[in-house]
Amino acid sequence: MAATATLLLPTSTPPEYHRIVSEAVHIPTDPTTPVPVGILACQRDPLLRELKTNVVSCMVHQPPPAPAGKKAKKAVIAPTLPDDPILEVILQDTVIFPEGGGQPTDTGIITTNDGTVWQVVQAKRHGGHGVHYVKVHGDVNVAISAFTPGSSVTVALDQAGFDRRYDHMSMHTSQHLLSALLETRLGLPTLSWSLTSYPTPCYVEIPRGMIVEEILSIQNEANRLVFEGRKVHVEVRELDREQEQGVQKLESGRAVGKALPDDYTGGVKRVVVIDGVDRNPCCGTHMPSLHNLQLFLLPHTDSLSRSTTTSARLYFLAGPRLIAHLTTTHSLLSSTASVLSCGMPLVPERVTQVIDERRRAEKRVGEVEIELARSLAKEFAAVIGPHQEGLFKQHIHRLDDSANALGFLSTVAFAITDTIPNTQKYLIIVTSSPSGQNASSTSVALVVGSDEKLVKAVGEGLKSKLGIKGGGKGPRWTGKWTGVWKESKENAVVQEILETTLE
Ligand SMILES: [Zn+2]
Repeated sequence: MAATATLLLPTSTPPEYHRIVSEAVHIPTDPTTPVPVGILACQRDPLLRELKTNVVSCMVHQPPPAPAGKKAKKAVIAPTLPDDPILEVILQDTVIFPEGGGQPTDTGIITTNDGTVWQVVQAKRHGGHGVHYVKVHGDVNVAISAFTPGSSVTVALDQAGFDRRYDHMSMHTSQHLLSALLETRLGLPTLSWSLTSYPTPCYVEIPRGMIVEEILSIQNEANRLVFEGRKVHVEVRELDREQEQGVQKLESGRAVGKALPDDYTGGVKRVVVIDGVDRNPCCGTHMPSLHNLQLFLLPHTDSLSRSTTTSARLYFLAGPRLIAHLTTTHSLLSSTASVLSCGMPLVPERVTQVIDERRRAEKRVGEVEIELARSLAKEFAAVIGPHQEGLFKQHIHRLDDSANALGFLSTVAFAITDTIPNTQKYLIIVTSSPSGQNASSTSVALVVGSDEKLVKAVGEGLKSKLGIKGGGKGPRWTGKWTGVWKESKENAVVQEILETTLE
């Protein structure tokens, strides 16, 4: 994610970012009481990269049994747990965000008292607590003793962890902005959204497709707010489950968004506010302002059909992901322009031209092949004509780099049966190999003759003596062979098959 460096990163979160708006919520300071998910350090101060804290609990991770059935394909790929032993560590507080609100887990490091640096490969919310999945290198018992409850540690987002988080925060905050504008300007609720894995565009799912003008107007409005640098802050109060309304439903029965998870026991309700634009309950980490979050909407929607309803996906990019996208697309376009020896704006025109030329060339090759096949057939007819005593037999091996060498041989076979009179007795084998060969090269073989039985017999011979795979019908037999076809070896076997085939 080198492109991140080109963004001017804000260095610290302003103090007014995190606002506890009810007296019942306190950030625990007792070293044995972990801070609940909802008011973790990463949620109070999303730009904080390092924190000194202490271990509250540690246990060895027991992997759950693999779920039965086929795995569903996921757009969001969680970092996979390594095969090494894993410790589940709860810290008093943390800068590592456990997955939630559609935002994937952070990764990071924990440095224990003895100076050892441990990788946090995942973090998850268990009930109300964030649990760090720490990879163990070496002896599990030594690891457990490094994480003795009460011992002090430093938890941090390393560079890779911070780049990952910065991208997630940028995309997540942009999603709040985008969803708010879609809702207020076009009456389009966000049914779901996906923070896809870097660097793919993320998307919001909406009840219908959008026209280009709508997409442009939302993008312009979003970027106007970005240039203003609208502030973002978080309001936190105690969670009253009784007061919580379930999610809204569309007429179709489709839910709009997701409710607070039933297993959340942190007791905190968190609302993310974009000044004058949006208030939205969410547990994710968000940028303190829209500054630098230029939003790019892919100028189309993909429609999506479910059993009862249809919806559409609108893809978007912002922050480091947008810069990565621009860098990649620019480099793809400029390398294509260089291959085509033209300026970038001319690429579409040149590509169309090249494709047209190629189509014409393919048609021409087809015509020339038919002409060549007829000419070959005539040559055979000329040789066979005077050959009056019994069966005329011949093998020809040719070099052909065409992707469809067998197609050409079939054309030859048809030309032969069309050209040579029925009264002539002949048996012809044509084989062809590419000019440069290796162990996976394909050579092809064709047998054509006046006597179907002899054609079949030769085909069987090619199968059993050379291992050619093939089959045939009537006076034609075709087959394929993999490997390096040698004149001295394979051609000799074909010749022998031909010689030993008698009328
Ligand atoms: Zn959110």
